[in-house]
Amino acid sequence: MKSLINKSRVKSPWLIHFDCGSCNGCDIEVLACLTPVYDIERFGILNVGNPKHADILLVTGTVNHRNKKALKNVYDQMPEPKVVVAIGACGTTGGVFREAYNVVGGVDKVIPVDAYVSGCAPKPEAIIDGVIIALGKLAEKGKRVDQGIFERLEQTQTNIKKR
Ligand code: SF4
Repeated sequence: MKSLINKSRVKSPWLIHFDCGSCNGCDIEVLACLTPVYDIERFGILNVGNPKHADILLVTGTVNHRNKKALKNVYDQMPEPKVVVAIGACGTTGGVFREAYNVVGGVDKVIPVDAYVSGCAPKPEAIIDGVIIALGKLAEKGKRVDQGIFERLEQTQTNIKKR
């Protein structure tokens, strides 16, 4: 049962994209991943608009003092297990904007990042590679989360039997 849940999570993960103030170069490449040419849906990946439904968070652009709260808010709404992919020079380090007065830096300054995709802008192939790396981490995190859930369920069963 545990392995079935984990397998289905990794075989059909849902993804949400958050733009932290990108120049839209990276965003266009993310959209290209969804087109029939790159067709990320062939991996069972579905793009969704609600963080409460998402397993993977793709972040483009530089984190600044105005959007860091919104980014954290989106991340916090995602259920465990979840993974984050930072995309492009801006998402990974702050890029050319990193020393600007209003810039916090890369995505990992605000939330934990599981995969980094370099480039300005990165090619769709590189973004898909980043997502696949993140899926491996999602599987690992999923095992830990499932273990905790099953342990709690078993404990509940034991408590019920004792009554
Ligand atoms: S990494 Fe390059 S393409 Fe992507 S948001 Fe930054 S400046 Fe734009």
